[in-house]
Amino acid sequence: MDILLIIPLLVGLGVGLLVNYLGDVLPITRSFSRPACQTCGAEIALKDYLLFRACAHGHKRSLRAWLTIIFVITISLYAWQAPPKIGYALGMVVIGYFGLVFVIDLEHRLILHPTSIFGMFLGISVGIIRRGLTATLFGGLGGLAIMLAFYYLGVLFSRMRANKLRAAGEEADDEEALGAGDVILVTVLGLMLGWPVIWFGVLAGILIGGAVSLLLLLWLLVTGRYSKNSLMIFIPYGPYFITSAFMIIFFPDLVSLLLP
Ligand SMILES: [Zn+2]
Repeated sequence: MDILLIIPLLVGLGVGLLVNYLGDVLPITRSFSRPACQTCGAEIALKDYLLFRACAHGHKRSLRAWLTIIFVITISLYAWQAPPKIGYALGMVVIGYFGLVFVIDLEHRLILHPTSIFGMFLGISVGIIRRGLTATLFGGLGGLAIMLAFYYLGVLFSRMRANKLRAAGEEADDEEALGAGDVILVTVLGLMLGWPVIWFGVLAGILIGGAVSLLLLLWLLVTGRYSKNSLMIFIPYGPYFITSAFMIIFFPDLVSLLLP
């Protein structure tokens, strides 16, 4: 084994720990607070936290914490051997950003403004290196325009649904499928991917989301947990868009096989 592999191994571990830490504290305290148990909120000493020890009340660390570490180390080793166009180092910053947005959106249905602002700067840097300034700016504008169109379609749809429910004398909820955070996220991905690739990124994200939802629905049907409300489960779109952008940036050869 190449001794230099110790570098991506350690970098992957560090980025994975950072994603776990920020994913644990940012949605709760909105600051770089001390790590705390995700179950009971008790503070955990830094050393115990880093060693993946359970909290004082015996609550074990989440499955996500383990999966994040395994995934980030794996992708770090891969990117070290087959660096993306933006290079290994910037690639790992992108992985950290993607991982954090993915985890927080999945667990809290939330895309935080500080991560969005960080994403804007990261997106511009990544985009310029990958595609140049013009494609980057048009990619960002394209992502914004596509998502605003979806956003207002969604608002229209939920108003129609609410009116229908009210007409039938039922309670209407005001849950929106797409949030402002999703719109900003796809703008960031548009900067990274550039125009016109952001089109492909959004379409692939929607397809991945559709496939996962279908599998989830089948699973609910098979296990007998399906109910009328199942179709109204809120789907966070962020993780799907991130998955598609991740594939385009880190596995361009694989993705180009899918394109005509
Ligand atoms: Zn606990």
